[in-house]
Amino acid sequence: MALLGQMMSMPLLISSLIQHAARHAGDTEIVSKRCEGDLHRSTWAEVELRARQLAQALARLGLSAGERVGTLAWNGHRHLEIYYGTSGSGLVCHTINPRLFPEQIAWIANDAQDQALCLDLSFLPLVEKIAPQLKTVRHFILMTDRAHMPAETSLPGLLCYEDLVAAEDGHYTWPLMDEDTASTLCYTSGTTGHPKGAVYSHRSSVLHAFGAAMPDAMACTRRDVILPVVPMFHVNAWGLPYSTALVGAKVVFPGPHLDGKSLYELFEQEQVTFSAGVPTVWLGLLNYVGSQGLKFSSFKRTVIGGSACPPAMLATLMDVYGVEVIHAWGMTELSPLGTLSRLSSKHLSLPPEQQRRLLEKQGKAIYGIDMTVIDDARRELPWDGRSAGNLVVRGPWVIASYFGHEDSPLIPVTGRDGRDAGLWFPTGDVATIDEDGFMQITDRSKDVIKSGGEWISSIDLENIAMAHPAVHEAAVIAVAHPKWDERPLLVVVTKPGATVSRDDILKFYEGKIAKWQVPDDVAFVSEIPHTATGKMLKLKLREQFRSHVLPTV
Ligand code: AMP
Repeated sequence: MALLGQMMSMPLLISSLIQHAARHAGDTEIVSKRCEGDLHRSTWAEVELRARQLAQALARLGLSAGERVGTLAWNGHRHLEIYYGTSGSGLVCHTINPRLFPEQIAWIANDAQDQALCLDLSFLPLVEKIAPQLKTVRHFILMTDRAHMPAETSLPGLLCYEDLVAAEDGHYTWPLMDEDTASTLCYTSGTTGHPKGAVYSHRSSVLHAFGAAMPDAMACTRRDVILPVVPMFHVNAWGLPYSTALVGAKVVFPGPHLDGKSLYELFEQEQVTFSAGVPTVWLGLLNYVGSQGLKFSSFKRTVIGGSACPPAMLATLMDVYGVEVIHAWGMTELSPLGTLSRLSSKHLSLPPEQQRRLLEKQGKAIYGIDMTVIDDARRELPWDGRSAGNLVVRGPWVIASYFGHEDSPLIPVTGRDGRDAGLWFPTGDVATIDEDGFMQITDRSKDVIKSGGEWISSIDLENIAMAHPAVHEAAVIAVAHPKWDERPLLVVVTKPGATVSRDDILKFYEGKIAKWQVPDDVAFVSEIPHTATGKMLKLKLREQFRSHVLPTV
């Protein structure tokens, strides 16, 4: 029989992160710009105490282990308290993307069977609108104080967050539980059909927090002042609420104020050293800083991911502003970090342009993630920087199934030597990997568009177009856009004899989908290319419209 280790048995729990931060970085600040318009200051110790009070309050409301608590909230200290108060007490923190269409939000909350919903003031009108559709929510909690509670609301028994917290004494001990217990739930609409939930565990979240904080990943330290621009409703702000606690860093939350000017002022005022977000946000910040002739006085490095970081943006940040850019790739299903582009010692002697080419790639896998590229027969391809194939990953923070779905998304892979290489998660991205393990995304096999870091389903847009009486066939593809990375272009074949204008078709989308998801343009063609089995050849269409110029709106 194998010899067992003789170490203390301490499960990897999310509560251990906040307890560590409270005990060892208790006076380190957590600064939040709030919906109410003020700048709020607290500390890790206060966040932990209030998370305990919240855990007591949620238990008093009758919520029990495993139940889901939804959030519709910006980045802020109350959202952080909810992260820890829910997961830490055995509930599941379910962050919902408020930018989705109201019907999608209701669908997601119902699918997750959320029992309570915590919302920021900005989302009160939205939740009032969808409340009649919410089948399982028993408690609505407005994340504000008594003074900002609405005089009237249609939400039944609307609770005040600050009242709930204040009513509890905090005499609460974080419970021990199995580290594989579900801690967090996040839906991704990155694939076709209905959104699907990725359920993270305490173990996967803590391991990811370690991995993300490492020097060749985000390099979070207790000397850093970290401003997560990436929303806490997008895969847990890439794990930063956990990694910052793990190292005891000062955290600055921007709330809903994500425009270039507000961000710049907050960066300077709080002396932010590190941040993370999608390219679109940096564009706003860079435009503001450039137009005003400003410089950053403390900003040292940033992780850019979620969409490909344009080389010009990387160059501006590095060369003009002296901000190190770490290009990263990940997915909701990966908690989300997979690869980050940082050089190895042997690259330091390369000429600067060659170093730059490497940094522009999506980067190298960090410990906790293994990846490779495979062909259509699911056989591993060489790592030569040229062979493009489907990117597959595996590791302790990669999902093995989706919430409520029996079927496994994992696929068997055959190694280059013909041996069984086990089960892997197919990412839907197409990539090359070079001899040094640098991965570069070259295309996407999944049929979606990513605009400003948010998904748009081409299928949904096609289905709407197909319902138009003049449309015979419709395909939606992504076209490159300087601000949003990608925008949808609708390619249409009209019915014989039918005449319809671009504007008529675009008008048809009104009220059927969120405004920002409506295609930017319509291209009329006589035929859409198909495969032998009748599937639309999107790759060909993307090539055909690669240089299509979208109208400026
Ligand atoms: P999400 O689940 O919303 O985080 O989206 C994950 C997907 O975004 C990936 O599968 C990629 O298609 C895309 N993505 C994320 N990061 C990058 C990147 N650095 N470059 C290109 N695509 C990216």
